[in-house]
Amino acid sequence: MGHIELTSLTKQFGSNVVVDGIDLDILDGEFIVLLGPSGCGKTTVLRMIAGLEQINGGQLYFDGQLMNSEPPDRRNVGMVFQNYALYPHMTVQKNLAFGLQSRKRTKSRSQTKKEIRNQVLAIAKLLDIDHLLEHRPKQLSGGQRQRVALGRALIRKPSVFLMDEPLSNLDANLRERVRMELASLHQQVAVTTVYVTHDQVEALTLASRVVVMNEGKVLQVGTPGEVYNFPSNSFVAHFIGTPGMNLWNLTWDYGDSEITLGSSVKLAREFLPILKESGDRVLLGIRPEHLKLKNPNDRTAVTVDFQIQMVEHLGSHQLAHGFLSNDPAETGIVQLDSKEIYRSGDRLELAASHEQIHLFEVTSGKRLNSMSFLDESIMVEI
Ligand code: ATP
Repeated sequence: MGHIELTSLTKQFGSNVVVDGIDLDILDGEFIVLLGPSGCGKTTVLRMIAGLEQINGGQLYFDGQLMNSEPPDRRNVGMVFQNYALYPHMTVQKNLAFGLQSRKRTKSRSQTKKEIRNQVLAIAKLLDIDHLLEHRPKQLSGGQRQRVALGRALIRKPSVFLMDEPLSNLDANLRERVRMELASLHQQVAVTTVYVTHDQVEALTLASRVVVMNEGKVLQVGTPGEVYNFPSNSFVAHFIGTPGMNLWNLTWDYGDSEITLGSSVKLAREFLPILKESGDRVLLGIRPEHLKLKNPNDRTAVTVDFQIQMVEHLGSHQLAHGFLSNDPAETGIVQLDSKEIYRSGDRLELAASHEQIHLFEVTSGKRLNSMSFLDESIMVEI
């Protein structure tokens, strides 16, 4: 009871297509995170699932049943939004019970006051707010209010949980705590959840699968590991990661049994068949945390001549901002440990291993090197 299917789902406001033919199969019990930059259509997708926004094209199914025209109260969804919208004049107990009482009036008459009280208590215990039942919202902290809002959605035993940036009003510490609580709550109750955020840390820590969106389209659906390690296009590569992946637009050339990219990068010749498919330029992607100082004894698949412009110290590590030494238009970031002191003007010879190299088509941004290529790859020293 929580399988959701979207086929070619479309929404336009006037002539503005904001959700552009999305296909998505959400399995019962999954925690799906819609992730993308502001305005990419995440909230609109969520509102269409909730029944709060009319669907202009495509189909929405819950457990195989077409939902396009069903009103929100026929969908059995629980919603939590960033402004938790608790009733200020009611106690926590009443806020939690409210959904059950209004349901009782309109639907089943069998539920007694005692049953409601028991359910409220069970949910309050689950969320660790049972000591706050007599408090009013203004007497609660942000995190406590957010837990009441979660409880109010949970208590109705929805088949689907919809959450729109539920943590964005909390300060950084609290956000981290409530995020962990959400993760453990989902482990306990395993209700299908669709969660909207533009915060990738939230997405990667909570999701069973992440849906990366841009401009109304789904660019990739995958586990957090898949979207990080194997982005299917350059947008996802740069969007996921803090900082995002370096992307260098370079011409390639093959001679003396080695590949050169621009004038600062050398690449193992195993990549030649892939480059031959790509025209004379390619986008080379390497994450800042995967570039290491080249050690003569290491077997590496790429070497990068990098010049530092500015160093940012972050305690556990430092981020060197700079550019490819002989291709100054190609800027990038390298994550270095905090032991050495680096300065503007330093030149570094960096290396990365085979599976840390991502090649994308320049015009479409489409990924060129496949997983199977990586599996079969032979490590070659250059
Ligand atoms: P954010 O992270 O900023 O909330 P989002 O990815 O959730 O963004 P949506 O809120 O779904 O994006 O909005 C997608 C696009 O649709 C935006 O360009 C927005 O301006 C537009 N839009 C949303 N609601 C309406 C509306 N009621 N009328 C007209 N345009 C709208």
